[in-house]
Amino acid sequence: MIKISFPDHSVREYDSGITALDIASKISHGLAKEVVSATVNGEIWDVTRPIATDASIRLHKFDDPEGKYAFWHSSAHLMAEALEDLYPGTKFGIGPAIENGFYYDIDPGSGAVITEADLPKIEEKMVELARRNSSYIREDISKKDALDFFTRKGDEYKVELIGELEDGTITLYKHGNFTDLCRGPHLPDTGHIKAIKLLSLAGAYWRGDEKRKQLTRIYGITFPKKQMLDEYLSMLEQAKARDHRKIGKDLELFTFSQKVGQGLPLWLPKGAMLRERLENFLRKIQVQYGYLPVITPHIGQKELYVTSGHWEKYGKDSFKPIQTPAEGEEFLLKPMNCPHHCEIYRSKPRSYKDLPIRFAEFGTVYRYEQSGELHGLTRVRGFTQDDAHLFCRPDQLKDEFKKVIDIVFTVFKAFDFQEFTTQISLRDPENKEKYIGSDENWIKAEKAIIEATEEKGMKTTVVVGEAAFYGPKLDFMVKDAIGRKWQLGTIQVDYNLPERFELEYVGSDDQRHRPVMIHRAPFGSMERFVAVLIEHTGGKFPLWLTPDQVVILPISEKYHVYAEKVLNFLNNCDIRTLIDSRNEKIGKKIRDNELKRIPYLLIVGEKEEAEGTVSVRRQGEGDKGSFKPEDFKDMIEKEMARQMEGINS
Ligand SMILES: [Zn+2]
Ligand SMILES: [Zn+2]
Repeated sequence: MIKISFPDHSVREYDSGITALDIASKISHGLAKEVVSATVNGEIWDVTRPIATDASIRLHKFDDPEGKYAFWHSSAHLMAEALEDLYPGTKFGIGPAIENGFYYDIDPGSGAVITEADLPKIEEKMVELARRNSSYIREDISKKDALDFFTRKGDEYKVELIGELEDGTITLYKHGNFTDLCRGPHLPDTGHIKAIKLLSLAGAYWRGDEKRKQLTRIYGITFPKKQMLDEYLSMLEQAKARDHRKIGKDLELFTFSQKVGQGLPLWLPKGAMLRERLENFLRKIQVQYGYLPVITPHIGQKELYVTSGHWEKYGKDSFKPIQTPAEGEEFLLKPMNCPHHCEIYRSKPRSYKDLPIRFAEFGTVYRYEQSGELHGLTRVRGFTQDDAHLFCRPDQLKDEFKKVIDIVFTVFKAFDFQEFTTQISLRDPENKEKYIGSDENWIKAEKAIIEATEEKGMKTTVVVGEAAFYGPKLDFMVKDAIGRKWQLGTIQVDYNLPERFELEYVGSDDQRHRPVMIHRAPFGSMERFVAVLIEHTGGKFPLWLTPDQVVILPISEKYHVYAEKVLNFLNNCDIRTLIDSRNEKIGKKIRDNELKRIPYLLIVGEKEEAEGTVSVRRQGEGDKGSFKPEDFKDMIEKEMARQMEGINS
């Protein structure tokens, strides 16, 4: 008999050789139908693999990341089987599961070319093969036999991969007519895969090396239920309509110029003003929380980054140093603001009574990204972080953490991110030597983060071994309006930089001590935040933030004088108002301005002029009735005040 322990700490005894699937079916028939993989002693396994020793076990359904991983990776094998059937002689590179679905890099061989038009045919074949309900069978194999097998098959890519593996660790997976070199895990059988969609094709160099052969990468996604696929495809459609690159262009927020350089966003007037409002929003909050503004240059001496360690870490793979006419002078474009802020901390002696010190800067940084990786405002080469560095005593860590959490919550509320998850990343206690900082400080910091989140009533996932080498951290992931997840905001403890920059304060004991440093950026960067916000709202920003709040639509030219009067009144009240004086039908004016996502449309004609009123339409809500301009002003000021609750106080 072996002892199996479950996540709820219960322990049950089973015959040796039992599988996770057997265990699931002893619990319930329904569960057995749904489990797709299992974590056995910390490793993800096939549910059909016999367990021979005492073990801890977690069963995964499709909803778990571990379940999706096995599901989608098995789907990549299914696609490979279909390809081999349709294109005999196809050679296979790698076929992993990814965040949403899977891909396989393939070489169709003998001059065959696969295009988008072929995807439905491959999809159809996959459906046919999935229905055969073939089992995925794991097989240990010696290196020699594996090499023989794939050499005979003529699959040079697999032969190359096997060459790098250790004998005794190699496994094959077979299902139906297809055999793959693979570590697993996989589904019990192909019958679990009920809905299939191949999404796109791309070229991909073998092993990411542009000197080697370009393979065809086929992306796809699969689900255990057809309805899930339908929902996913409709989400993709919605995502397309919300693409921040398109909306940013429509609303004239930002642009790119090949002449200026790729990955370097240019903020247009409407975008720049929007960004200014965002910065002021955060500045206001930061003043309340005792942050002090600092300003630092865009470059720094190479030596600065040698001290910080950034040179060693990023120097080779980023922008090259800048030389001056003077001999031996070298500067780097700033990849991070932290080193500059450390030097500001060092600019005068600090006492325990001065701490915590919080330096904030909207600091622009530059990092090289390959051109293929660039994407709108989310992957750029120059961006501005809403950065701050907090220097505190170890006993102040928890309070500082709680305050940063409050700021993050205020941000989420103001921008209507209602759903989010958080993750605490701790060090791996088995490998303490990998981390910098004393044992005592790590224990203190990890405890401080955990307690801070508990006291804030947050439900967090704790992941052991995910901390950076220099400190534990807390990450926030928000869910946007169509269910996609975005990382926004990280709070990171750092023992490394205070050490490298020899930062000190004089304690109450008159001795010198090292402060603890916290990096935090609730938005991440202005660029990324604006992108996420556009995709979340579809460009319909909260009223206080949106570029144009009100547009006045005169029914005809006769009412332009009255419309101008209302325009002046509202603009004098700091309400961002435009007038649409085009000679167009009112219906067209309404449609055009709604497309520009302007929240309020004020229609003025004969009746309004006679009564001294405006007819109000709210974007997406329709007619709101007629108002005196003063009453309309009060109404929208109240709406903004509600959105900014707790920020201006
Ligand atoms: Zn596999
Ligand atoms: Zn930093």
